Amino acid sequence: MSDNESDMTPAPLEETCPIAVASGQGLCFQLVWDSDKIELYNDKEGKQRWRCHHCGENWAGKNHTKALRHVSRTLKGDMKPCSGKIPPHYKDAYMALLRSKEEDKSARKERKEVLDIGLTTTDSRTLSIYQDQKSHRKRPPKELQDLTLASPLTVSTASGSTFLSTVSRKVPKHASLQTTLNGVRGTTSAEARHKANVAIAHWILANDNAHNSAEDPLFARVVRHVQQCGTDFKPPSRYEIGGDLLDATYSSYYDEEKGRLMQESKIFGASLYGDGATIKGTPMINVLASTPSNPSFVIDVIDCTEHMQAGGKKDAKYIALEMLALMHRVDPGKTIFNQILFDGASNVQKAGLIMEQHFP
Ligand SMILES: [Zn+2]
Repeated sequence: MSDNESDMTPAPLEETCPIAVASGQGLCFQLVWDSDKIELYNDKEGKQRWRCHHCGENWAGKNHTKALRHVSRTLKGDMKPCSGKIPPHYKDAYMALLRSKEEDKSARKERKEVLDIGLTTTDSRTLSIYQDQKSHRKRPPKELQDLTLASPLTVSTASGSTFLSTVSRKVPKHASLQTTLNGVRGTTSAEARHKANVAIAHWILANDNAHNSAEDPLFARVVRHVQQCGTDFKPPSRYEIGGDLLDATYSSYYDEEKGRLMQESKIFGASLYGDGATIKGTPMINVLASTPSNPSFVIDVIDCTEHMQAGGKKDAKYIALEMLALMHRVDPGKTIFNQILFDGASNVQKAGLIMEQHFP
């Protein structure tokens, strides 16, 4: 790269750098390395370095944040501000880049916060559905015994500390749990942290899960909630996960999406669409609704096995009847759906004509 002025090529502007376009400037960088005044090069030992041609100084490595701080003269961190003479159009381009990076950063932070709030809402709704399911069922006697002195919590404290075991016998059960939790909380020793990391990595690797699973925001929630539990906590069984927990999670998301569908359709209306699909030998019809914020709300997946076993076909009448039943369930007042979409197959096209009669 040369620092000859005649080598300067204005970067493509319109879409990539609206700030520069708006201010009538001729330079726009997606990265600080795009500037012909910042040179990336390898030294004699082949190590990466970069040089600022505004001031002539050079640095080891390839740190975008540091390079941008240098040329934009941001007095943040330990990066030395550029002492060279930076032409105004370069200065504007560096500042525009810095602003866009900071906006990206705060947008990422905001997205993370919004996601977290959304997940908390979903989880608390799932929790209330799940607890509701539980309260409608008679508890087996074994579970009732669990909160007595024979519970694993009390047993573990009794063997570990006489003080805690005395406390747990004298105070109400909730306080006993809290006392034990306080003992568990606090700073993590390096050994405990390493053991946890090993266990997490082992679980991910042995199950062939994606290596970034541990960075998943849902996994972060797992860790946080487990930290709130006592040492007697045991993860749910496959039956619990595939049973009550699956039902509660499904209902929670379904209610959320349905609520959004009802809300948005007041303004925009909603489209209904679907198609037949046979997956691993199971004949199905999927039925979805679309609104601006969720183009694919799955209303239901109809299992057509019994109908087909009885000699039926996925003909227009059958499809129309099944889908109309769903439409009536979601939209009894016939005020939401203003469009039905199908592909060109003759059975669904005819079904559409039948449905039109009932949902004009
Ligand atoms: Zn410099």
